Amino acid sequence: MSKKIFIGTDSGATTTKLCAVWETGEPVSNKVLQRSTGSENGREAVIHSWITGVSDFLTQNNLQWSHVAGVGLAIPGPYERYGVWSNTPNLPKSFAGWDVFTDYKTALAQQAGRELPLVCGNDGNYGGVAEARLARGNAKISVLMLMPGSGLGAAFVGADGLCLDGDTLAGMEAGHMPVPLQLLGLTGKPFTCGCGRDWGCVEAYTTISGLPQLLVERIKNFPDHELARSTAPTKEKVLSLRTRAQKGDALALDIFDFQARVMGIHVANLAMALDPAIVVIGGGLMDHEATTPEFRVRYMNAIRAAARPYLWAPQKDTIKIVPAALGELSQAIGAALMAMYQSQDKH
Ligand SMILES: [Zn+2]
Repeated sequence: MSKKIFIGTDSGATTTKLCAVWETGEPVSNKVLQRSTGSENGREAVIHSWITGVSDFLTQNNLQWSHVAGVGLAIPGPYERYGVWSNTPNLPKSFAGWDVFTDYKTALAQQAGRELPLVCGNDGNYGGVAEARLARGNAKISVLMLMPGSGLGAAFVGADGLCLDGDTLAGMEAGHMPVPLQLLGLTGKPFTCGCGRDWGCVEAYTTISGLPQLLVERIKNFPDHELARSTAPTKEKVLSLRTRAQKGDALALDIFDFQARVMGIHVANLAMALDPAIVVIGGGLMDHEATTPEFRVRYMNAIRAAARPYLWAPQKDTIKIVPAALGELSQAIGAALMAMYQSQDKH
């Protein structure tokens, strides 16, 4: 019997990650192949990087182009339309309006010697697809995923395994919904957010992007803390917080407890609209190499405790809030799974 695989290409501005799944959805390898995207060298360089990346992945796993039954491409937004980049942060301005879907599809056909089905979507949403498949097993249930990092990634994956994209591909930009500020005991203006909204975006209260503002707010209660007297640049101060928290630093723990509380309230907020059976929490704070088991338990429990009072009675006992499992593999695997789902006509 000939083997069939589906390739996932997860392209960020600087790094492209490649992975693949078998027809069963199981990963071909637990090792992700990484390549420089080469976006600074223009469009052709990017396509070349993706194609040679796939070839190298196949060689490393003793596979050939003839085994490839479909390809998925995960890219950051925003988009002008399906498979077409808009003015996307961190990418060259000249990429706006570039139909990456068509160019990648053409290059894949040239390389494989035949047409290959291609599916293209938002990287965060595709990461959710992979985590959801793992979290729910064989159960037909829906999964919400939140990934606090530099920003707040969010995805909703329905019981059919597919992510919610919305009609302008801006679905689940849940990091830019407002926080119910009256619950947080903060006075003064809402935190600013990179998106420009002034209503106090959740992203500003739960991620690295908002840490400078949160540090100014919370350090008021720790006047004798080393960081209160430090003249180090703000960026250096905030980037030290995660490590400090692992050592039990009271200010750092206070800050991540606060972030977890906002995240929990947001989980409950989203549960009013989406009613998921499982909520997966990903991002750098769940990274086993960066945080301790004690810290992760504390953070997850703080999210659960903050969500609980605002959930409906049946949800309180049924919603599972769990840490992510795939880490940096999730978006490439999600892209491969989407290619597989498409071939199985799940659309
Ligand atoms: Zn925002």
